[in-house]
Amino acid sequence: MKTADLHLHTHFSDGTFSPEELAARAQGHGFNALALTDHDTLDGCERMAFACATHGIEFIPGAELTADVDGKEVHILGYWLDAGSTRLVSELRRFQAARQQRIHDSVARLNAAGIPLQVENVLAIANCASPGRPHLARALVEAGHANDYDHAFERYLKKGRVAFVPKARMTAAEAVQLIHGAGGAAVLAHPALYRNDGLIPKIVEAGIDGIECWHTRHSESATNNYIRLAAELGLVATGGSDCHGLAKGTPLIGSVKLPYTHVEALAARRPARSDS
Ligand code: AMP
Ligand code: ZN
Ligand code: FE
Ligand code: FE
Repeated sequence: MKTADLHLHTHFSDGTFSPEELAARAQGHGFNALALTDHDTLDGCERMAFACATHGIEFIPGAELTADVDGKEVHILGYWLDAGSTRLVSELRRFQAARQQRIHDSVARLNAAGIPLQVENVLAIANCASPGRPHLARALVEAGHANDYDHAFERYLKKGRVAFVPKARMTAAEAVQLIHGAGGAAVLAHPALYRNDGLIPKIVEAGIDGIECWHTRHSESATNNYIRLAAELGLVATGGSDCHGLAKGTPLIGSVKLPYTHVEALAARRPARSDS
């Protein structure tokens, strides 16, 4: 059976693997198709496309966007996104700038609380256009302010802690329009993680094409519930590992194997591209 993983991160956002390393591992797991879905960036897609081609793996360029629904953060995955789409790329740049500002704000809050940390160190660790809290966590551990990655979140970075700064969000409708405008398909990422299925009707109304039913952190019963829901709503059931490399311990790639027929069903929902 042909299989795909439609949710992967590299060091172009908060993963640790390079595109080449990820593609090589994917080949080891026997995948036929992969999507790269780094946060707010397509920067890794060119290298990933090349690396996949060398392994005979189909590549789908994508990104994971952050949206707001009723004050809650949800993630929307975009697939078949084109780095030549000017509106999409300028929006991604705007969100990358907000992420960089967020690092400055977080570090300023740490410094004000008497914890010395330098923005330059965090940005050097991130070494990408889309820095996030995982990079702050690594910097805090390196500087000896936390024992490990989870401790850094627990102590400084999670909501309510001193270094927490909310992330920029677009509305779910804006995210879907941006993706569709670029000729892509839009999927609600890991719905079980929001613990609030009441948000789903609003996201469906925004025009999503699919629901990520298979995800490493979805229980079997959650997966089955979302598969049923997707079928009821006429949406495509998708899935991916959400592998961040070694950022969170064991690499997750291989933990989810989406039957390729679901990729074809998602591809069939792509609109004609309207921006340029
Ligand atoms: P950001 O996009 O900058 O808000 O960072 C979100 C990333 O941090 C996600 O990849 C999460 O898995 C990770 N993360 C969020 N909260 C925690 C936590 N309490 N412990 C460990 N990792 C976390
Ligand atoms: Zn991430
Ligand atoms: Fe996510
Ligand atoms: Fe993700």
